[in-house]
Amino acid sequence: MSSLLGNLFILAAPSGAGKSSLIKALMEKYSGDTGHPMQVSVSHTTRDPRPGEVDGEHYHFVSRKQFESLIEQGVFFEWAEVFGNYYGTSRVTIENTLHRGIDVFLDIDWQGARQVKKLMPDTCGIFILPPSIDVLEQRLNHRGQDSEAVIAGRMKQAVDEMSHFNEFDYVIVNDHFTTALHDLEAVVKAQRLRTGKQQMRYPKLLDELLGMA
Ligand code: ADP
Ligand code: 5GP
Repeated sequence: MSSLLGNLFILAAPSGAGKSSLIKALMEKYSGDTGHPMQVSVSHTTRDPRPGEVDGEHYHFVSRKQFESLIEQGVFFEWAEVFGNYYGTSRVTIENTLHRGIDVFLDIDWQGARQVKKLMPDTCGIFILPPSIDVLEQRLNHRGQDSEAVIAGRMKQAVDEMSHFNEFDYVIVNDHFTTALHDLEAVVKAQRLRTGKQQMRYPKLLDELLGMA
């Protein structure tokens, strides 16, 4: 898998830290940049859609029964139970996209991140932290899309999720949004400039330059 031109990125964080906002902003910023194609992987989930969430765009919303059948069919690259629901990433979509030289972003939890790292050690793991616990709670409340009980459950899990930060390659504190977005861009760019990827991107140039020696 390391011979794929596209890079695989994982963004993990406690719920409300801002991973979806950061990924969305990154996609918008690079949407017209044909030299730097990137896509967010659309996961399958058994949770109910939030207001405004569109099937096939934010998630593929499926029943528990459908999800279990997809597990049996080996559809998932990774899957995990998070906050009492199943979430999973489709294998074929990721592999096809990476083969086409497109960077793929996964917004997944630490359990899924562990599975992906094992299968593709080349994956770049990024952990997003909030500037404080209070701010995290404010953001979840302000987002206004989850019930009080759901928010309380997510806050309870936040410390557990954050305790896995050191399994990731990079840590970004999402205090000022623009700064965090710049940090994310820096990581993505550095990943693309790694020697192995540049070798695949510029075989002719390297041949020409080295042939001149
Ligand atoms: P996640 O995907 O990690 O659950 P979201 O991206 O949905 O989190 O962000 C949670 C809420 O916090 C959203 O309402 C979002 O607009 C807001 N938010 C994200 N980043 C920042 C930031 N740097 N400053 C203030 N609010 C933020
Ligand atoms: P939410 O319900 O807020 O969209 O997501 C809840 C949690 O599930 C987040 O931590 C998110 O990263 C994680 N998640 C979303 N999709 C996947 C997936 O495909 N696999 C795994 N393992 N986790 C996911």
